[in-house]
Amino acid sequence: MSDTIALTFDDGPDPAGTPAVLDALARAEVTATFFVLTARANVMPRTIDRLLAAGHEVELHGHRHLRHTHVSRRRIELDTNAALETLDLLGVPRPSRWRTPWGAYARWTAELAAERRLELIGWDLDSEDWAGPTADAMLARLRPELRAGATVLLHDGVGPGACRTSCAQTAALVEPLAAAIRDAGCEPATLGRLCSSRPARTAPEPVPVAAA
Ligand SMILES: [Zn+2]
Repeated sequence: MSDTIALTFDDGPDPAGTPAVLDALARAEVTATFFVLTARANVMPRTIDRLLAAGHEVELHGHRHLRHTHVSRRRIELDTNAALETLDLLGVPRPSRWRTPWGAYARWTAELAAERRLELIGWDLDSEDWAGPTADAMLARLRPELRAGATVLLHDGVGPGACRTSCAQTAALVEPLAAAIRDAGCEPATLGRLCSSRPARTAPEPVPVAAA
């Protein structure tokens, strides 16, 4: 059984939030997964370089932060194409995972993901950092929920609807959260590491089909 807990960050890069989170991850000796907004990444190429150089994973959130259930399939297709093209131009390895904005799925989202060979990713534990709680309050709420195989949702950028103006409390949460995960007998890591440490799925037994 996996003893890994994945730390994932959405809505970056952010000029202040991402460097602060990266500093905290470095101090905690943790690598994590970042679901980026490529319209932001496009103007912060050095931050993307820093993410990659430190061994973090860069995956897809969107080019812009669009809610799939509120816009057309065509608009998300164009947004996703722009995002993948931007990541390519920034030298990011082709993403294999997609966390859609707000985790919202339209009826066609899975089809778009499959066409682009992107695995849709949700989360198990929500820090709700976007709502503005202190690092202490988030840690107190998350600590009892920490369990092997879980994916934690955090934000290194301020997204639409956030009730805060900086990601300072998220950055402050990183080190104590990593310590709490280790206290729970697990290791904080990327989603790639979490997935690779999962036991291989066994194929289901074929179901005999009765002759008609
Ligand atoms: Zn988001």
